[in-house]
Amino acid sequence: MIVMKFGGTSVGSAREILRVTELVSKEKRKKVVVVSAMGGVTDKLDKMARKVVNLPTEVVESEVEKFHKEILDQHVSAIKEAVKDGKVQEEVLKEVSTLANSLRYALMGIGYLEDLSPRSLDYIWSFGERMSAPIVAGALRSKGVDAKHMTGYEAGLVTNSCFGQARPLFKKLDKTIKEALNPVVAKGIVPVVTGFIAADEEAKMTTLGRGGSDYTASIIGRYLNVEEVQIWTDVDGILTTDPRIVPNAKQIYTISYVEAMDLAYFGAKVIHSKMIEPAMDADIPVRIKNTFNPDNVGTLVVKESEQVEGVVKAISIAKNVAIINLKGVGLADTPNIAATVFNLLGESGINIIMISAASEANLSFVVKRSDVQAAVNVLNTEFFAGCIRTLEVIEDACIIAVVGAGMRGTHGIAAKIFQTAADVNANIIMIAQGSSEVNISFMVKENEGDSVLKALHRNFIECAKGAGK
Ligand code: ADP
Ligand code: ASP
Ligand code: MG
Repeated sequence: MIVMKFGGTSVGSAREILRVTELVSKEKRKKVVVVSAMGGVTDKLDKMARKVVNLPTEVVESEVEKFHKEILDQHVSAIKEAVKDGKVQEEVLKEVSTLANSLRYALMGIGYLEDLSPRSLDYIWSFGERMSAPIVAGALRSKGVDAKHMTGYEAGLVTNSCFGQARPLFKKLDKTIKEALNPVVAKGIVPVVTGFIAADEEAKMTTLGRGGSDYTASIIGRYLNVEEVQIWTDVDGILTTDPRIVPNAKQIYTISYVEAMDLAYFGAKVIHSKMIEPAMDADIPVRIKNTFNPDNVGTLVVKESEQVEGVVKAISIAKNVAIINLKGVGLADTPNIAATVFNLLGESGINIIMISAASEANLSFVVKRSDVQAAVNVLNTEFFAGCIRTLEVIEDACIIAVVGAGMRGTHGIAAKIFQTAADVNANIIMIAQGSSEVNISFMVKENEGDSVLKALHRNFIECAKGAGK
């Protein structure tokens, strides 16, 4: 059995959905299909939810009606073209219209109550995948493939109630996922599961964080112990860097779990940063493939690290982050201060992305830029007043991560990396402490990030023989 996950661009319109049905029907092994929302739909839902909560009451209804029409039209036109069988088409049209109606009521509620909680936002986001899955399943059925759409929850994916960033309840999943999906697959039916969304133990809708459909795919793959988890997207695989910044980035054919995990963690959007772990735990290969160029072998993510000539395999960049610098001699005198800071931030749902070498009177760490205000609120309290003398925020920073097996053991590589940054006049603001064996990561100003990335790619990948293999 395998898992085939199709991202937003792969189900972006009827033409793409038909392409997906070709790929699924050609695959002779048993399979579970996982789908994202149609390209751009989650962004639209997110934007609308944030807009409607701030609208004057008199315009809520008309704005929601307009939005409802736009979303419904987009899906209906995909259904009319991709779901060819008349009876199936009718069923899917009915289901999607009902969903669009619920979306309309939910948005009205948010607008009139002027209240958008993380729980309501997850509910709004969920409509993207809940509308795309019936279309893909319907298109498959029209092609003679027995398929059935299911929500992540119906497929056994239960999470905690941390809306917007829910954690799977792993201890339960072995049972719930097997019980939900194995009987369906055994009957020869292809489950088409909504990626990204799940529910908590009280069946309240949750999400795994933006881009989380990849994570759904690897979790399902892990508990069904599949042969391979396939991530179908719009590029040939994991490339040596972000092709939007360096158009001649090269395809990587094999990469280890640890390397892929570091790349994703530090910004390579091609896979979700959490998706590798479940696959790695069960030693299941992950293959990233291009829906629009399916003959290309793609990238295979496996256990073994393979050192490439020149050592550097890929470079990633994570933007929209900020550095928080705490200074004060009191930091040195307060026992466990770092643990206290990180615990309190964690309790407020703020992730620490990176920590730099802390001296006795200095503690620096990196958070998402959107978390800065919340972090400052946590730290600006009576409790910390005695030990933190200054709290400095550097908002316009980005992280660059240089990744490759054997990095840490290679003499002089860090010096060469930092020299490359200096050659393009970038200042290194912070160097990560305790990066993994396979990466060296550091921060520069965001407006210097792209030029550092390009220079590193040129020096370490384009000019290194055998790199990009
Ligand atoms: P999907 O909708 O299929 O989940 P995403 O947009 O989430 O696709 O991820 C694919 C995109 O990731 C690519 O189009 C590419 O622009 C971007 N990307 C960033 N870094 C990399 C990288 N190192 N290798 C490949 N793609 C990358
Ligand atoms: N549709 C969701 C998003 O855009 C999840 C995903 O595509 O993986 O974030
Ligand atoms: Mg994605």
